[in-house]
Amino acid sequence: MENDRSKVIVKSGYLFILTNFLLAAFNLVVGLIAGSLAITSDAAHSLIDAISGFVVVVGEKIAKKKGDKRDKIERITTVAIAIVIIAAGVHIVVEAIEKLTEAEEAPEYSLATVIVLVGSIIAKLALALYLKHRGNKYKSKVLSASGAETMNDMVISVAVLTSVGFYFLWGIDIEAYISLIISLIIFKIGLEFIFPKLSKHHHHPLETDPSHGTA
Ligand SMILES: [Zn+2]
Repeated sequence: MENDRSKVIVKSGYLFILTNFLLAAFNLVVGLIAGSLAITSDAAHSLIDAISGFVVVVGEKIAKKKGDKRDKIERITTVAIAIVIIAAGVHIVVEAIEKLTEAEEAPEYSLATVIVLVGSIIAKLALALYLKHRGNKYKSKVLSASGAETMNDMVISVAVLTSVGFYFLWGIDIEAYISLIISLIIFKIGLEFIFPKLSKHHHHPLETDPSHGTA
């Protein structure tokens, strides 16, 4: 049974990585075509979620092989990744400020933009519910926490869709502000990589589950 449980947790982790990677790809394409900073920022966020999930998987594999060198390797990779993540956050802030201060070209949303955004919201909602359900069934705090985090990500996509709606209906462009909110989330993820103690609630499905010790 314990073996089944860890298999489900690992599979859910791969699903988390794959879903976020696909979300990043689709959103990056429509975001670039539309010239929308909010959508490309959300794509960067999904990519960062996918990468951080992937790092946990690779980290676990290295940990099994290298044993005592684990801590040092983990420390170096997490700090390197944190730097990349924080740099991405800074980039988004700079772009958002440029957008707010300079007369930049307005985004050009299309039906494809709306379809991808609605699809992203549905995919994130489905993933969040799936992770929460699995978390309850297997009494895994990390799966439940990943479900909760994915639910927050879904709210961000709703905010992005709202900014598109504002623009369609009233011609008001609020996407720079949405991008700033996303950059704050990206900074938070980056800082949590460097200071894991900050993130009591930020877990990943593949992390060792404190609610179920290996002993
Ligand atoms: Zn996220």
